Amino acid sequence: MNIAKKQKVIVVGGGIGGLAAALALTRQGLEVLLLEQADKIAEIGAGIQLGPNAYAALDALGVGEAARRRSVFTDHIIMMDAVDASEVVRIDVGEAFRKQFGNPYGVIHRADIHLSILEAVEKDPLIQFRTSTRIVSMDVSENRVVLIDSQGNRHEGDAVIGCDGVKSVVRENLLGDAPRVTGHVVYRAVVDAANMPQELRVNAPMLWAGPHCHLVHYPLRAGEQYNLVVTFHSREQEEWGVRDGSKEEVLSYFEGIHAVPRQLLDTPTSWRRWATADREPVEHWGNARATLLGDAAHPMTQYMAQGACMALEDAVTLGEAVKACEGNLQAAFSLYESVRIPRTARVVWSTREMGRLYHAKGVERTVRNSLWAGRTQPEFYAALNWLYRWNVAQCLEA
Ligand SMILES: Cc1cc2nc3c(=O)[nH]c(=O)nc-3n(C[C@H](O)[C@H](O)[C@H](O)COP(=O)(O)OP(=O)(O)OC[C@H]3O[C@@H](n4cnc5c(N)ncnc54)[C@H](O)[C@@H]3O)c2cc1C
Repeated sequence: MNIAKKQKVIVVGGGIGGLAAALALTRQGLEVLLLEQADKIAEIGAGIQLGPNAYAALDALGVGEAARRRSVFTDHIIMMDAVDASEVVRIDVGEAFRKQFGNPYGVIHRADIHLSILEAVEKDPLIQFRTSTRIVSMDVSENRVVLIDSQGNRHEGDAVIGCDGVKSVVRENLLGDAPRVTGHVVYRAVVDAANMPQELRVNAPMLWAGPHCHLVHYPLRAGEQYNLVVTFHSREQEEWGVRDGSKEEVLSYFEGIHAVPRQLLDTPTSWRRWATADREPVEHWGNARATLLGDAAHPMTQYMAQGACMALEDAVTLGEAVKACEGNLQAAFSLYESVRIPRTARVVWSTREMGRLYHAKGVERTVRNSLWAGRTQPEFYAALNWLYRWNVAQCLEA
């Protein structure tokens, strides 16, 4: 008998991670109550890169085709030096890459990936979905979890998954640790292709690495739009948060950048501004009735474009753990954390190192630019195996 059948899991947060978690859990026969603080389920206007590991996870959730239809599959991943506009790295993500990793490298509008998962969530009779429900506290006892929202309503279930992002209330209740503010600020915008400088209309995530800053652009929606992301080390004392950006501020951080990438700074008419944060990896995320997933579990800087990919992997792995433990949630959470904590910690730390390389200056920049010189495509692929070859069949292996 499947003992998962009668259990109800509360998922807090309806972002990419929460939606994916809900689907993964109902596939194992669990009932899900999904609680989201926003009054409607939506994503911000920006793009996202998806590695082959993300497509493997989306397929396992049954939404791979929907996401593929809305993706742009790129030809390369490119890194340029933003000071002299020389090429530092070019990874071919065509046929050989797909063969190596079993899936493509794609870019997609965040609203489109979110929608691809939401469509399946809305059709799922085992998922009950409540918006305008902001969880403010929770109580985990031996037999139940009780969550209280900002209106004072109680939500009861057998277990809770905190998918409530960088400033997770569930994590605050479980661990009480603080995010680590990076001091790095990100500006993002989506522009129409017609407004994108012709020489930068490249079918690749193209990253321009500069001193204490970098710029990224890639196409979205069949090349009709371009996603722009610029990052710099802030002079301000930053707290994690989101607000409108100012063009004057962004321009002041990109002096000394070559004219070709610099054009990007004049392209958008408005920007959104994020002060970013990550967290130190920890040995446990939860307990017998509670665990964490996505940014609530392992927020990371965006330098390897893997935060959402990891949230999707988490969700699939959680579902597989429930299956392997035949619905025993305590055992499933323990198995899930035992494989996800080391993998995501490696990505968090690798990402910090990538940020250092992207923002190198002086001798460090010279060394950075020579690091991958002469590397063959198979050598690049071999170096990326640990990250991109993830798949559902092996997701519970340590
Ligand atoms: C600049 C930038 C670029 C990025 N680029 C990439 C990329 O290219 N590829 C990639 O894979 N990742 C990327 N990421 C990371 C990615 O955006 C995140 O890792 C991912 O969105 C995390 O999803 P999540 O569902 O865990 O959290 P979130 O998207 O933060 O969702 C959390 C949800 O919980 C809700 N919530 C919060 N608190 C409560 C509460 N108390 N009660 C109820 N609901 C609550 C929120 O409203 C939200 O809907 C990038 C991040 C940044 C900042």
